[in-house]
Amino acid sequence: MEWTRSDTIALAMQKCARCHGLGLRTGPKIGIGPCNCVLRAIFRACYARFRYCVEKEKHISRATLEFIPGRDSRVCWGRKDEEYIADFCLVSRRTLNELEHKVFKYHFLLGADWRLCTRRLGMDRGNFFHMVYRIEQKLGRAFRELKPYALYPLDEYFHGPRRPPEEIRTETKPALRQTQRRAALRPPLLKTA
Ligand SMILES: [Zn+2]
Repeated sequence: MEWTRSDTIALAMQKCARCHGLGLRTGPKIGIGPCNCVLRAIFRACYARFRYCVEKEKHISRATLEFIPGRDSRVCWGRKDEEYIADFCLVSRRTLNELEHKVFKYHFLLGADWRLCTRRLGMDRGNFFHMVYRIEQKLGRAFRELKPYALYPLDEYFHGPRRPPEEIRTETKPALRQTQRRAALRPPLLKTA
């Protein structure tokens, strides 16, 4: 994925010493890439939505009809909240290594604070918070760059992609031409002379 300033500027920390609020970083090794403050903001937005989906009353959750785009586009029923919870957990397990996933599970999923985690994992406070930052950055990137359906932006995950008007216009053009061609059918006419 190619990151642009439009993707990052709204998420960047204004006082960030690395990107100065622009959200993009350049370097000989990384090229142009998102700043860590942007990746952490993405993770925190996804995590807040995860907590909302888990904590809300289950009778509010409902099946919704959704359009699945692609070559074989179709419409099917789904439970978006439950799918999001599963995606959040599975992508995290796939992205993190064993120790990182342990910290993720204790701190983010089970809600243990740093004292409990450091005692349980035999880490000191500094290493624990470094690891938490690293987890947030890794998962923020994974949630945004996931293909074909990224977890972030959340509104696109839950309500489908918003396409620019030009794309919709170019898609409708061939269909219109086809309708016009179809309209030119000539039924056999009675010859009068
Ligand atoms: Zn930054």
